[in-house]
Amino acid sequence: MVQEHSRLITRTGGCHCGQVRFEVTAPAHLRVSDCNCSICGKSGYLHLVVPKSDFKLLSGADALINYQFNTGTARHLFCSVCGIKSFYVPRSHPQGYSVNARCLDDVTIADLEIVPFDGKDWEAQFKDGRSETLGD
Ligand SMILES: [Zn+2]
Repeated sequence: MVQEHSRLITRTGGCHCGQVRFEVTAPAHLRVSDCNCSICGKSGYLHLVVPKSDFKLLSGADALINYQFNTGTARHLFCSVCGIKSFYVPRSHPQGYSVNARCLDDVTIADLEIVPFDGKDWEAQFKDGRSETLGD
């Protein structure tokens, strides 16, 4: 029997103004990380990391602005109209996407398990500079 928690759901989400829209497939019960690094801490970003194959950009590719800093691995993608970062390519998982759980259309607190992540002390978290696996 498939547990309710691990059942996969395709959800939609996007930025504030509606230019950027996406679809993401993830478990019904979302395990998201609350990172305290220099950029996530300021915006309150809640990371839902998925493989590239579980993410589909529906619209807004031409509205996205790419912001990079430090190692330049992460591609922070902001909507050029409303300024919201609804998803991006994270340094920890450059082969996947991190979706901002706060930007999902139908998410409720009941769906969220928030795990603190010490992104300020990055090198201690990922000795090789990134995570080897997805979704942890
Ligand atoms: Zn927007």
